[in-house]
Amino acid sequence: MDIPKQYDPKQAELHHYERWEKAGYFAPEINKDPGAPVFTIVIPPPNVTGSLHMGHALQHTLMDVLTRYKRMSGFRTLWLPGMDHAGISTQLMVTRALKKEGKSRHDLGREKFVERVWQWKAESGGQITVQMRREGASVDWSREKFTMDEPLSRAVREVFVRLYEEGMIYRGNRIVNWCPQDQTVLSDLEVDKLPQSGKLYYLQYPVKGSERRLTVATTRPETMLGDTAVAVNPSDERYTDLLGATLLLPLTDRQIPVIADEFVDPEFGTGAVKVTPAHDPNDYEMGVRHNLAQVVVIDQFAKMTADAGESFAGLDRYKARDKVVEEFEQLGLLEKVVDYEFAISKCERCKTVIEPLISTQWFMNMEQLRDLALDLMAKKQKPQFVPEVPYERVYTSWLENLRDWTISRQLWWGHQIPAWYTNDGRVFVARTEAEAREKAGTDELTQDPDVLDTWFSSALWPFSTLGWPNETDDLKVFYPSSVLVTARDIIFLWVSRMMMMGAKFMGREAFADVFVTGTILDSHGQRMSKTKLNGVDPLDVFDKFGVDATRLTLAQVGSTDTRWNEKQVESYRNFANKIWNAARFCLLNSEGASVDSTLLLLGPQASPPASEVLKSSKVDSAGGDACGPSTALHDRWIISRLNRTAIDVGAALSAYQFHEAVQTLYHFFWDDFCDWYIELSKNDVTTEEPGEQRKVARSRLLSVLEQALRLLHPFMPYITEELWMLLPGVGKSSLHPAYAHAEPTLMLAAYPAGNPAFVDEQVESEMQAIIDLISRVRNIRSEMNIKPSERIPVLVGAPDERLRNVYLAAVDQIGRLVRAADVTITERLEAPRASARAVLTGGSELAVPLEGLIDFEQERQRLLREQDKLKAEAAKLEAQLQNPSFVERAPADRVAEVRNRIEDISQRTSQLQQTLENLQ
Ligand SMILES: [Zn+2]
Repeated sequence: MDIPKQYDPKQAELHHYERWEKAGYFAPEINKDPGAPVFTIVIPPPNVTGSLHMGHALQHTLMDVLTRYKRMSGFRTLWLPGMDHAGISTQLMVTRALKKEGKSRHDLGREKFVERVWQWKAESGGQITVQMRREGASVDWSREKFTMDEPLSRAVREVFVRLYEEGMIYRGNRIVNWCPQDQTVLSDLEVDKLPQSGKLYYLQYPVKGSERRLTVATTRPETMLGDTAVAVNPSDERYTDLLGATLLLPLTDRQIPVIADEFVDPEFGTGAVKVTPAHDPNDYEMGVRHNLAQVVVIDQFAKMTADAGESFAGLDRYKARDKVVEEFEQLGLLEKVVDYEFAISKCERCKTVIEPLISTQWFMNMEQLRDLALDLMAKKQKPQFVPEVPYERVYTSWLENLRDWTISRQLWWGHQIPAWYTNDGRVFVARTEAEAREKAGTDELTQDPDVLDTWFSSALWPFSTLGWPNETDDLKVFYPSSVLVTARDIIFLWVSRMMMMGAKFMGREAFADVFVTGTILDSHGQRMSKTKLNGVDPLDVFDKFGVDATRLTLAQVGSTDTRWNEKQVESYRNFANKIWNAARFCLLNSEGASVDSTLLLLGPQASPPASEVLKSSKVDSAGGDACGPSTALHDRWIISRLNRTAIDVGAALSAYQFHEAVQTLYHFFWDDFCDWYIELSKNDVTTEEPGEQRKVARSRLLSVLEQALRLLHPFMPYITEELWMLLPGVGKSSLHPAYAHAEPTLMLAAYPAGNPAFVDEQVESEMQAIIDLISRVRNIRSEMNIKPSERIPVLVGAPDERLRNVYLAAVDQIGRLVRAADVTITERLEAPRASARAVLTGGSELAVPLEGLIDFEQERQRLLREQDKLKAEAAKLEAQLQNPSFVERAPADRVAEVRNRIEDISQRTSQLQQTLENLQ
């Protein structure tokens, strides 16, 4: 058997993925079982402009683990990939490219510009699909979708028309969030509310026909030019006599009334507030209530309009602010200016301060949709959030407070709104222009220039990708999807909207479960971001440690916020090497053997426990057992551990406990399989003597390895496939029956479910007793600095007969693994005074007589020196902790590190003390 000494991840990553993809293993059609259960995931579509970041790598790993696990378990599995057209980001990307050529999008015109975006997509978009292949993501590329594909665009138009016809989509003149930089309206979710320290200006408005002045407080004095009233709370006695009075609005020739409105907070400012319906959302509502005029004084470029007055028209809004304040001061109408902290609304993309403007937009009334989603939660508990707390509450309380959704955007890249206008201003909403013409009875139509919010098409993703509105087979089979794996920051933007649209158009939930991932932070606990340049590129990590090690690290993150720690990836790289080396050992000793699953059918019923075997017929009872001559304890033990591991991993994955699954597999492979099983079976496996015993031992070792590779495959697809293909005896018969027709590949092998009947508590506890014994002796060897080549005597006293028999049955292996000259097992321990001792499970004791093994005095001196050194180090660390400036200024993890080290030292020192006493 020829197998390289070193694992080369790149080699495996290169050729297996291509082979899997070409063979069609990712498509659900590979499953030929007509009764197979179905498992579906739709990918959160990355932006077409995007490239892989840690957040994607995390989500993709978790989705791939689930998909591979279900596929191997015989499910008809679909993980559907695709990309989002990402309206504004993509438009900006292409606009910037044009700028380098000295052109603007207006130079090209809409049609040419959109063509240019498609061209950009063909040439440079979708980098991420290449990177996803590197990740090992087993998505069905034959069903890849793009939100601007014609079938998906058709779904968008269909939904728009139906909601319009039901009166849920409407066009209206409303106050909206406007970004003067991006020149588009934004939804509330695209606006960041940020704390800002600014000023609160107290402006006085003269009362008509009186010497009195009414003072209002505002953070935006320039908007006073658009005031159409001043409002007070009706219960505010300070102003009762002014209700109905008229004010002379300074800097203008307009007169405005004093009105009463419950909305006014008497505690804010002076209790009298200026009302600017055209430039503030709350004032807008108040204006509607009181039928106030809307005077627009700021335009879409955040410049003052003609209605602001001749001396202000054309000024930038901040210049206008200074001028208003200056003129109020000159008129003696500026009462005071105070510092003031408030929340300011900024565009989440370009950070420009939002200008609330009245504009004609398309809106979606959310009442019915919201009730559908809340109903699903109340009656069917759908979706099931994992973790349930806090996300279920976050989701429902957001729904409860939902407002109308502004769905139009002033962009060119996106789904153009399917509404056409006649020359006389009538509007016709239709699926196609032809349909609109028919409805309008004229060909003279102009389509609405706006496009839909990108999230409109994303909301339809779970069914538009499956062919809706056509009643396709895919839709019947794969809707709803099983689970959505997503980040917490798009629960509102995306998760809730998919649930609402799914409920409305498919009559049921879009997905059963929502798994909300944790966030990967940088090593200082900060969010990774492009602007902070603190992101870690997953592709670099793949290059350095291999995809499998990275995936294992990411899978372990699960739903917990986690600081990125390269050491962790490194340790999983070492784990990959461990797997490689273990497999290499098995393969180098595989002559005459092959994987044979019948050798693993060794449960409690198959043979009595070691103690029983010993009682009836002494050890080594050849024959009589279907499983061949070797029915040693360690064989039954590894089979029990294997089954238990499979059961635990299955349970963990079903509950989305990825961390537990990784830990279980890691310890099974490293501790149980490598550290113990390989060691315990080494003699039988490596013997020069060919024969039935060697063949069975080798075959069973290979079979356990083969099962372990299956268990690991969803997490580490590359190394497991690479090794599995090398195992003698694997082939078509290893595949899950649903894939029996396929070429051999681990990704279609049956995932071990584990059989509780093969979990043998007694065998496990007996083996654990032997493991404890061997570990204790090894500890003593290292504690006492006994040379590795030195053969030592081992004395064991086991008053419990059953346990004594267990030790006796394994006496040769114990001797071999601790390099003992001889192992004496008796009922009562009788050992010389100068012995190293340890207490074992079940009341047993152990001693290693030290006379002649070590120089007592020399050893005592060595131990004392170590003790002194540790004490000095501890004193130094303690002093550091006493220093308040260290504790306050050092990073929290550094302080914790010092505390842990002190703890370790204290444990080690008491160990040393114990050892020294043994040497008295
Ligand atoms: Zn902006």
